Amino acid sequence: MKKKTPVVILGGGIHGVGVLHDLCSRGYSDVSLFEKAELANGTSSQSTKLIHGGLRYLERPSQIPLVYECLHERSLLLKLVPDLVKPIELLIPVQQKNLGELLKIKIGLSMYDFLAGRSLIAKHKVLSFEEAYERAPLLKNKTDYRFYSYWDAQTDDKELVKRVAESARNLGGKVHEFSEVFSIKDQKNHWELKIRDSKGRETHVEASYVINCLGPWANDFLKNNNFSVPYKAENNKGVHLLFEDLGLKSGLLLKAVDQRIFFVLPWNGKTLVGTTEEFFDGNQDQVTTSLGEKEYLLDSLYQSLGISFAEKKILKTFAGLRWLVVEEGRSLSLTSRESVWGQHQNQNGFVLTLYGGKLTSYRKLCEKIGNLVSKSAGVSAPTKTHIRESWKAPA
Ligand SMILES: Cc1cc2nc3c(=O)[nH]c(=O)nc-3n(C[C@H](O)[C@H](O)[C@H](O)COP(=O)(O)OP(=O)(O)OC[C@H]3O[C@@H](n4cnc5c(N)ncnc54)[C@H](O)[C@@H]3O)c2cc1C
Repeated sequence: MKKKTPVVILGGGIHGVGVLHDLCSRGYSDVSLFEKAELANGTSSQSTKLIHGGLRYLERPSQIPLVYECLHERSLLLKLVPDLVKPIELLIPVQQKNLGELLKIKIGLSMYDFLAGRSLIAKHKVLSFEEAYERAPLLKNKTDYRFYSYWDAQTDDKELVKRVAESARNLGGKVHEFSEVFSIKDQKNHWELKIRDSKGRETHVEASYVINCLGPWANDFLKNNNFSVPYKAENNKGVHLLFEDLGLKSGLLLKAVDQRIFFVLPWNGKTLVGTTEEFFDGNQDQVTTSLGEKEYLLDSLYQSLGISFAEKKILKTFAGLRWLVVEEGRSLSLTSRESVWGQHQNQNGFVLTLYGGKLTSYRKLCEKIGNLVSKSAGVSAPTKTHIRESWKAPA
């Protein structure tokens, strides 16, 4: 079977569905997305589930614009999808006698509040031990600590992907799950794609624009089809542990055994702990949690809270891949989360490959991609994804 369509999107993670929603909100009809499994099969269901500016990124001044953009997107998503993106209070324990650290956190949080501007969320404040203990009994051993409280937002990443996809479908977008794109060819005036569904049936699709949102699979897809790779990128694995509800009303931002930051969060009636960061060059379809990664998080919980958690208390672990452009000489945790894209051009359009990105800022990034497609196609309709009417109401 052969079909023609102006735009094909590869991958049904947050960026794939986000581009689909963006284009459909501008009035594009006949835009198709292909996902090889179910929606949010990749990283977009394995995140820490925070819709946040990323307090720790403030340590690098070059990341301030990214934090600003994320804080503004946080504010918008709180308004657009309030049933899925909700405020969450986070507590940072700092030893009373550690004046340097107290000052550093105070400055960081003041800046965070300033960058957020007039947001729906409260500003930071200091809590006593009793106030913090009431919100998080896991802090019981921290009597000589001061607690900074600040607010961010939290979501269910998989549900968010599904809502964005439903909103796009409502506007005419086509979502094909269990449809693997296995070939792309430059036919000079269009791109020809071959897709195989779960029953082994093949479809050929012709498109003027192809948006490669395959995340951790993006460069392999290009290489397998003899396309050059615009950016060198690496996969960086992050693991989470899920426990029964540990009694948290607020989340905790703590320091791991190697001084990295990690979170302990109330989430969907349970407690989520994570994450780790480790270079990963294995099969993207087989990302598992190692014993070492579990131990790292259990040891970090013990070191930061003075409480020992038995491995058998872990209900579940999950692991995802950050897809980051390689910055020579930088450690994984300092590698920028900013996104970039590369293009392969032909006579009538392009293949755009996306690198990096965050769940939080996906909407803005997809708007930028929508602008590029529209400019090239000579379409002048602006995005409407920032307007509630372009979103499907909760079922
Ligand atoms: C551990 C961890 C924690 C994170 N925490 C946060 C957080 O708290 N807040 C935040 O803002 N961001 C967070 N992020 C970042 C965020 O999760 C990612 O930026 C985002 O989910 C990436 O989405 P994506 O659509 O680019 O990729 P993916 O979600 O990986 O989507 C790619 C899709 O392509 C599909 N695919 C692959 N090959 C093919 C093919 N040949 N044909 C068709 N489909 C194919 C895959 O099945 C997959 O569904 C975190 C990331 C990690 C790893």
